[in-house]
Amino acid sequence: MTNSILSPLQPIASIHNRNEFKRLLESDELKQLRRFEAQFAASLEDEKFTIDGFCVPCGKNVSFLVDMQVGGRKTPKGWLPNWRERLECPICKMNNRQRLISTLIKQLLSVKPGQTIYLMEQITSIYNWVHTTFTDHKVIGSEYLGPEYQVGTVINGVRHENIENLSFNDAKFDIIISNDVFEHVPNPLKAFAECVRVLKKGGVMLTTIPFHSASDESVTRARITNGNPEKLLPPVYHSNPVSPGSLVFTDFGWDVLTHLKASGFSDVSIDVYVSQALGHLGGGQLIFSCSLGVQ
Ligand SMILES: [Zn+2]
Repeated sequence: MTNSILSPLQPIASIHNRNEFKRLLESDELKQLRRFEAQFAASLEDEKFTIDGFCVPCGKNVSFLVDMQVGGRKTPKGWLPNWRERLECPICKMNNRQRLISTLIKQLLSVKPGQTIYLMEQITSIYNWVHTTFTDHKVIGSEYLGPEYQVGTVINGVRHENIENLSFNDAKFDIIISNDVFEHVPNPLKAFAECVRVLKKGGVMLTTIPFHSASDESVTRARITNGNPEKLLPPVYHSNPVSPGSLVFTDFGWDVLTHLKASGFSDVSIDVYVSQALGHLGGGQLIFSCSLGVQ
């Protein structure tokens, strides 16, 4: 809880393997944080409450909304919110993880002007904020609109890209941002390799994925057979801005770090962020930081 809103947000830890993560979870700082959050939520009588903090995209002090949407529930010990998906700003409507990645984007773009950033999203609050705020950078966003479209085409103002087969030239981007996308891709290894291809040397990809930290190995829930999704496990869908729901193909476990490195990233870590001042509660928020060395 040491982050001030005036200094750059730094991770409390950069994790490279499961043992390091285990040690972090057993550290006093994380134990205290989790205990505080659990007791705080459990003590509430109402299933909706607010926590005051500073919203970086809005540049304002606000009261972040925590309710029981997106899987929050009442347990015998009291309310248990989905901290990652809530703590929603009343103005920009971005939740905990969306505001966190926005803060990190702002920090990366502040290093130098004229950077080229690709976001694997376009019809979202994050894209709109980055696109309208950072006008001295080149900002490109896209959505996946369907197999009938050619990659790189713009349909009704929205660029279509398939991250297994991007339309971009090699080494185009300084920064790639991918928020909860890779679990919806039939072949994530192909997508990782595409990200390496279009990233400049010295560039970085920040990504969030629903991460199954209790599993060593990723689980393939679905695959493409004869052009159609074949469900190997009961289907799970996540909401998205352009279709009723996206099928989850992969539950990522710890081997995702190995796969990201094998795809060509030179350094891959899971950066853990905690900041009460910025409304980043929830036992530590995880951002996968994948960089490409200059060599
Ligand atoms: Zn906001």
